[in-house]
Amino acid sequence: MPEGPEIRLAADEVANALVGRKVIKIDFAFAQLRKFQDLLTGQRVTEVKTHGKAMLTCFDNDWVIYSHNQLYGRWFISNAGELPDTRRQLRLAIHNRDFSALLYSASEIDVLRSSELRDHPFLARMGPDVLADKPGVDAIVERLQMDRFRNRQLAGLLLDQGFLAGLGNYLRAEVLTVAGLHPLHRPSDCNTAQLRKLARCIIRLTQRSYRTRGIVNPPSLVKRLRTQGINRREQYRFNTYGRAGEPCYYCGQIIECSNAGGRKMYFCPKCQSASS
Ligand SMILES: [Zn+2]
Repeated sequence: MPEGPEIRLAADEVANALVGRKVIKIDFAFAQLRKFQDLLTGQRVTEVKTHGKAMLTCFDNDWVIYSHNQLYGRWFISNAGELPDTRRQLRLAIHNRDFSALLYSASEIDVLRSSELRDHPFLARMGPDVLADKPGVDAIVERLQMDRFRNRQLAGLLLDQGFLAGLGNYLRAEVLTVAGLHPLHRPSDCNTAQLRKLARCIIRLTQRSYRTRGIVNPPSLVKRLRTQGINRREQYRFNTYGRAGEPCYYCGQIIECSNAGGRKMYFCPKCQSASS
């Protein structure tokens, strides 16, 4: 499942194709949305925003298309009127004179006024988005200390979009390793310095993943690994996620994996000692 950085990168591509341009044709596959086709045709797209894993395509008449890709949804950008060679189901097509932005396979699409966004059932329960809202260290520490979050295990808390929007399985693993925290620790087990470090890691790794298109390890480590002949992106982009049985790049200990709530949880038993 794509995480915040991947959604933002997809939104950047959609924005490049649509923002500032007038829509000449728009098609919704879902019958209940077709009534909006006339309303949006002839309008300009002003902005493409993200909130966690949701994308918001905003029009200058104050209407917004909400879309959530879930597991399978995918945007394609093509020259105006060209369709990619895919067997996916086309759900939404936005055409301007130059480009077509085509959303395939997504099942959650909605059209609403910008003033209705805050009451949207999905958006209403989301915490601040790490990339879009840019919460600072203090704001994140404050959330970690809230009654409804402070006694939750970090493994579950970091995936909870109501805590912070945009983190998923790979960011959770990498953030907790670099912060040196065991996944089963709770914020209430941590001192202030640990909470601040955790908050800094959340911000830094999410932003880095966005900037580098998914390379979460720091550039200095990636450089060292590549000089050692570790040249495949899948091998150097993460330290912990997906590397069970391999040595941690920081300490050499073997990365472990356990199953938490049906999702694999990777961690380094030395960097993330349960007793620290
Ligand atoms: Zn380690």
